[in-house]
Amino acid sequence: MAEILIHNAAWAVVWDAPARRHAYVRGVDIHLADGKVAAIAAHDPAAPPPPGVEVIAGEGLLVLPGLVNVHTHPTTEPGIRGVREDHGVPEQQMTGLFERSQAFRLDEAGRRAAMRLAYAELMAAGVTSVVDLSAPFPGWLDVMRESGLRSWAGPGFASAQWDMAAPQTVTWEWTEGAGRAGFQRAQALMEEAERDPSGRLSAIVFPAQIDTVEEDLLRDAMALAEQTGRPFTTHIAQAVVEVREMIRRHGTTPIQWAAEIGLLTPRSILGHAIFLDEHPSIGWHTQRDLAVMAERGVAVAHCPSPFARYGEHLKHFGRYADRGVRMAMGTDCAPHNLIEEMRLAILLARNAARDLAAADTAAVFHAATVGGAEALGRPDLGRITPGGAADLVLVDLAHPLMAPPRDPLRALVFHAADRAVRRVMVAGETVFADGRPTRLDLADAAGVLAESQARMLRDAAQRDYLGRDGDMIAPLSLHGLGPIA
Ligand SMILES: [Zn+2]
Repeated sequence: MAEILIHNAAWAVVWDAPARRHAYVRGVDIHLADGKVAAIAAHDPAAPPPPGVEVIAGEGLLVLPGLVNVHTHPTTEPGIRGVREDHGVPEQQMTGLFERSQAFRLDEAGRRAAMRLAYAELMAAGVTSVVDLSAPFPGWLDVMRESGLRSWAGPGFASAQWDMAAPQTVTWEWTEGAGRAGFQRAQALMEEAERDPSGRLSAIVFPAQIDTVEEDLLRDAMALAEQTGRPFTTHIAQAVVEVREMIRRHGTTPIQWAAEIGLLTPRSILGHAIFLDEHPSIGWHTQRDLAVMAERGVAVAHCPSPFARYGEHLKHFGRYADRGVRMAMGTDCAPHNLIEEMRLAILLARNAARDLAAADTAAVFHAATVGGAEALGRPDLGRITPGGAADLVLVDLAHPLMAPPRDPLRALVFHAADRAVRRVMVAGETVFADGRPTRLDLADAAGVLAESQARMLRDAAQRDYLGRDGDMIAPLSLHGLGPIA
């Protein structure tokens, strides 16, 4: 990479190392070299830019560290756009997870197209590091590589599948050897990602759900993470149905059981740890989950949108953080708009707590940057600091929704969101500019995904427990008027 100078940036959010928090600076030159931030200096109007350096005029810009998204499913979620937003099962405390998982299966062509659209959504909203939790398929790592983002490949594996025979019933269908076979495949893929010459692909150990993987395999998965230095993640306390089942199996909550078998460590990222023992939808007597999570040093992948759609939320961001749980942010579902997710995190925390102090812009931005980077064991990411990665988001202060730029981070989070993101850089390379990815080919993605979704909705009739097709499971939001005479 050539050297780059962001010249006289009007505003930047830089890392205040002694205070361990982000801080504003104004009128600053940011030098990038070899994919890193080389220097941050007060702008000197008398000193011209050095020759041979690419200059980015910073007068109209807010410069932010790239966002870190620790929980996404890019290869499926855009495929249920228009399907899942109003869908849920009242008999399962509103979650639609189990019903959709059984009925809907996106084919490979659709998953590849979904992934392209999702990666474009991610970078459009300022994400430079993404944890991609997927059932692997051929070409998965290729799209990561093409995008230019820093990607953590999390190839999922599980020993059981959820099955429903009625709205009020979920059962676990265990297949001997399936989890082990998936674990073997996952190991090969994780090693392949880590060998990638771009240096931007990493791996995360991902047994898919706490309730679908047997205990010895969960233990082995964590042992692998420890041996290889990789982060570890799984879905846990994400549904009332799951928590009740884990209590039935083990006599204790999934969080406390996970602690007993050694899964809760500082390398553990818990998606989504919402339904703790003390959550009103659970009401289990122990009241210990949050303390156990804090003692073991875990991070939470906080993804408010999918749960808010069901009428549920984590209770609450400020309380978890105050008790010492490390908070990171993810999007989980489409749209992969981490800026809007930050806004929702603030609003839900305040509504859950009925307290303005339960979350604010600074706390949630910290989670979406430093919180995620540290959860992934990468202190060079999520902050603008000399020697740190040149992963940056350039925000247009001239966008009307940023005006007036009195407090531009607030303007971005509460007002403009992705609409004001002009350029996204990873290791100093521009991967997104002026509304489009620079490397990622989106040409056919929307059309391919539409066709694939149509097949998925049609074929749901063979998979759904009531034999319904997708339009019956999730009707359109409005009825059709029919032909107009
Ligand atoms: Zn998830």
